[in-house]
Amino acid sequence: MVRLRYAPSPTGDPHLGNIRTAIWSWLYAKKMNGQFIIRIEDTDQARTIDGATDRILNSLSFLGIDWDEGPTTSGKYGPYIQSKRKETYVKYAEELVQSDLAYYAFETPSELAAIREEQKKQGLPPGYDGRGRLINKTQAKEFLDKKIPYVIRFKMPQEGETSFTDLIRGKITVQNKTLDDLIILKSDGFPTYHFAHIIDDHLMEITHVTRGDEWIPSTPKHVAIIAALGWELPIYVHTPIILGPDGGKLSKRHGARSVLDYKEDGYLPQAVMNYLAMTGWALDDKTNIISIDELKKHFDLHQLLPNPATFDEDKLNWLNGIYMREMPLDELANILQKQLTKDLNEDISLETLKKIVPIIQERINKINEITNIAGFFFKKDFQFTDLEILHKNILENNVEKTITVLLSIIEKFEKIDEKKLITANVEQLLRSNAEANNIKPGKLFMLLRIIVTGQKVSPPLFETIEIVGKNKVIQRLQTAIQKLS
Ligand code: GLU
Repeated sequence: MVRLRYAPSPTGDPHLGNIRTAIWSWLYAKKMNGQFIIRIEDTDQARTIDGATDRILNSLSFLGIDWDEGPTTSGKYGPYIQSKRKETYVKYAEELVQSDLAYYAFETPSELAAIREEQKKQGLPPGYDGRGRLINKTQAKEFLDKKIPYVIRFKMPQEGETSFTDLIRGKITVQNKTLDDLIILKSDGFPTYHFAHIIDDHLMEITHVTRGDEWIPSTPKHVAIIAALGWELPIYVHTPIILGPDGGKLSKRHGARSVLDYKEDGYLPQAVMNYLAMTGWALDDKTNIISIDELKKHFDLHQLLPNPATFDEDKLNWLNGIYMREMPLDELANILQKQLTKDLNEDISLETLKKIVPIIQERINKINEITNIAGFFFKKDFQFTDLEILHKNILENNVEKTITVLLSIIEKFEKIDEKKLITANVEQLLRSNAEANNIKPGKLFMLLRIIVTGQKVSPPLFETIEIVGKNKVIQRLQTAIQKLS
């Protein structure tokens, strides 16, 4: 059975490329009826941020990604948080020392800096020069007894070459003399990422190590350690980065945000999932829209290519609009109700919202646009925030005439039974009013749109008047008269 993992470090919100690798790993696990595991890699304590783990897990949940094992679930390979597995790493590191495959090293930070400085001077690539290998066991014991801070370094092979196969790139080989003795256990007693993930991937029986391709240069070192431990190599899948539109590494300055920011900005999970899954993977040369079920069926790690894809926010926006429009009315109404309740802090009637959705569904591209588009239906203390547009749109530039016309409309609305104030009747009533007053219907409609909705662009006017309802419409007409008088 395949077992894939997503192993984020809780150092902040994961970038989109990182989440895309999680999505791909999850999809592949699903396709293969395998398992998906979350492991929190918090061994770099200084960079660990409070709350980051929750945000990472929330990002996954927002996208609909579930996990078979992880920090919030039980599982026979736990704990799934590396800081809770410290003894395990120490045990394996010590065992490597015992077998003479690793050693204690006691250099101080300034000594290490001096080594780097010297290498720079000589035009050599930076790296540890292996001097700790010369310290014999007795000396090492003495230093340990004196509580001199130490790290444990792995003895990289110095001759020959190391190879591994990456699923996307094929065979990669490096000369062992280019590998320096990696720290596996730090002076604070925590393992390095390089060591901890090897131990965990093995103990957790991970079959595929999926991660960003920035890890390719370190992979030969991982392979050498795995060989020393006598373990089998996982299948490596190093995913390419996502580029910004200018060809640089995608970052905030390209408008790319975190998944939770997109959630906050009113994007639907289906759209974000669809977009990210297909950034760097395609079903064929024409499919842009794909459901999660289809993705689970068709996505295959073997089809990934090494070249990076480019981030295209317009495409994400376009996809989001499509999903908004295709969503069943009840489902969309429920989502919009939550947003409006949050933004307006008022009770939002689902019944009313279900009448509104059909007249706005064509126009809405993101969930949080609903408050601008349709907040006026619900606001109890509806105010003209922009008096200027009211004044600019009076009839024939004539305040008195405008007030007369508005009063006549109020009179008509007052007489009509609320149940009869339906779209067709509203239209007829307003058209005959325009005709009787000898004004252009278009002008009257614009004025009424502003009065009823507070804005120049709104859902269709007659339907809007029907939904806002007789009493509120009359109130708004009266307010407008007051403001004009
Ligand atoms: N903790 C590493 C990171 O967040 C994970 C790399 C991996 O998946 O092995 O970059």
